[in-house]
Amino acid sequence: MSPKPSIVAVGAHAADMEFAAGGALRKHARQGWDVHLVHLTLGEKGSGTLSADAYGAQKQSEAREAARWLGGTAHFMPYRDGELANNDEVASALALVLRQLQPQVILTHWPGSIHLDHTHAYHLTLRAHFMAAIRHFEVGGLPAVRGCRIYLTDNWEDPTDFVPFVFVDVSAEMEDWERACKAYAIGRGEGGFPYWDWYEARTRTHGILRRVGHAQAFAIDETSKNRVQDLL
Ligand SMILES: [Zn+2]
Repeated sequence: MSPKPSIVAVGAHAADMEFAAGGALRKHARQGWDVHLVHLTLGEKGSGTLSADAYGAQKQSEAREAARWLGGTAHFMPYRDGELANNDEVASALALVLRQLQPQVILTHWPGSIHLDHTHAYHLTLRAHFMAAIRHFEVGGLPAVRGCRIYLTDNWEDPTDFVPFVFVDVSAEMEDWERACKAYAIGRGEGGFPYWDWYEARTRTHGILRRVGHAQAFAIDETSKNRVQDLL
């Protein structure tokens, strides 16, 4: 097991976590954390011209390059874009990954999404964390995950009722985060939606209000608000 702290971002599609949390991931990497991006699907049905197989291969190599810019490692799970099932088979497979990576922090989607894969990724991640954290679940013979905090990301496709809880100042990460986003053709605007413009503007707007350059927003689940701490 790595002695370094670990942050694991679970996205429905390759590119989701890089766009929504890449600045914060890069910052953790620079501060000595192990950074992992777990892609439940490749998002391979997103091309208007390429076949799903061809676009999936392209997304996989884009995801590897994006992870390099963020100082992290890409992991690929074998599920299909638009068909991500919310069940215990998938959650168990994800729980195994969490036990292998032993994160202190997990990031995933906010559930109020226009994309059912994103909503399912949220539920799968919470269920997988539950399985990984309860030692009585037999998961790969590996020790349980302990004391892990879960944060939900600010994604343009997941806007319904999103309320930021905490912000990370990513001003010093903008260059590498932009390179990671633009490792993807869609990040360069080739899919028609100006992803980088939206995320750059979003984090700048958050930053202006918090008196920093650029800030990335994260929410937490209602149930996570019931924490016990020694001191405030
Ligand atoms: Zn997505």
